[in-house]
Amino acid sequence: MRDLNRMTREELADFIRKNGGTERQELIEESNRLRLLSYGRDVYTRGLIEFTNYCKNNCYYCGIRKDNHNAERYRLIQEQILECCQLGWQLGYRTFVLQGGEDPYFTDDRLERIVHSIRTAFPDCAITLSLGERSRESYQRLYDAGAERYLLRHETANDIHYRQLHPKEMLWDNRRRCLWDLREIGYQVGAGFMVGSPFQTPECLADDLLFLKELQPHMVGIGPFIPQKDTPFGSYSAGTLEQTILMVAMLRVMLPAVLLPATTAVGTLDPLGREKVLKAGANVVMPNLSPVDVRKKYLLYDNKICTGDEAAECRFCIQGRVERTGYTLTVDRGDHKDRRVSYAN
Ligand code: SAH
Repeated sequence: MRDLNRMTREELADFIRKNGGTERQELIEESNRLRLLSYGRDVYTRGLIEFTNYCKNNCYYCGIRKDNHNAERYRLIQEQILECCQLGWQLGYRTFVLQGGEDPYFTDDRLERIVHSIRTAFPDCAITLSLGERSRESYQRLYDAGAERYLLRHETANDIHYRQLHPKEMLWDNRRRCLWDLREIGYQVGAGFMVGSPFQTPECLADDLLFLKELQPHMVGIGPFIPQKDTPFGSYSAGTLEQTILMVAMLRVMLPAVLLPATTAVGTLDPLGREKVLKAGANVVMPNLSPVDVRKKYLLYDNKICTGDEAAECRFCIQGRVERTGYTLTVDRGDHKDRRVSYAN
């Protein structure tokens, strides 16, 4: 098949428009081969703690946007977050992902205390943050407190498209600035985008791939857009599994050692969505560790799966899915290949 790494924006867009055309099968096989080469059959787990659904932003696609008055708001305090980590540790998680809306309650001081307390209580675990856009100084303080990874999806690398997905106070330039700051500070950085978001064209997706090639992130979260009824995009259609699989496989070929999650959104779209994405080159799963009573409130999109399950159920459900697909769920921090030495030392 043709080398994606040599394609122009137009050629990539054309490839995407045709869903890979006659080269699709070969692409998926190549993606799987490259994943095996970088990470073998290992699939890494991250325990996801959705610790606040307050948000000061108004992203048009997101169910926890500020103006969604139907969202029932909650936040977990430090002790509750630590309890989640304790349970997660017992279940075999060695990475905790703290994700939330951009909640002004969580000042640098508060977050620093939380990160530090997790770092002290669970020295063998990786701490990942996913708290949106902050100042460089803030990212630095949280890094110094012990967080070593940060997930901030870029959402779309096309400036015009960015403005179609976000209100005018949110700027693509700032998003990009955050990602480069995180990289420079030394975080393992995760970017990413939604597949099939409103107004997205194959050219936008080509821009995403080219941007990611430039950024060289350690992780990339790719999931389908799924409408949430109380948002301005509530009546748009969802992205497709077919296109999500294509983008995962293309990305694996373009960034062979990247960590790629099979997202909850893809599992929401299709009961076997995560399995299919794993077979196309993904190698990370992020089961939910949040307390069951808050799960239903972190509704980024409609019909989100696993909102009624206990953390232990999610853990064993995902293990079965991974193993039935022919991979191995690992109890391991699951660092990016290039970052393993620092931990071993
Ligand atoms: N506030 C944090 C976390 C946001 S939620 C941040 O800004 O990074 C995590 C991700 O969920 C978002 O980056 C977005 O890509 C995704 N998401 C939000 N709404 C969605 C929807 N309707 N469908 C699919 N994914 C969505």
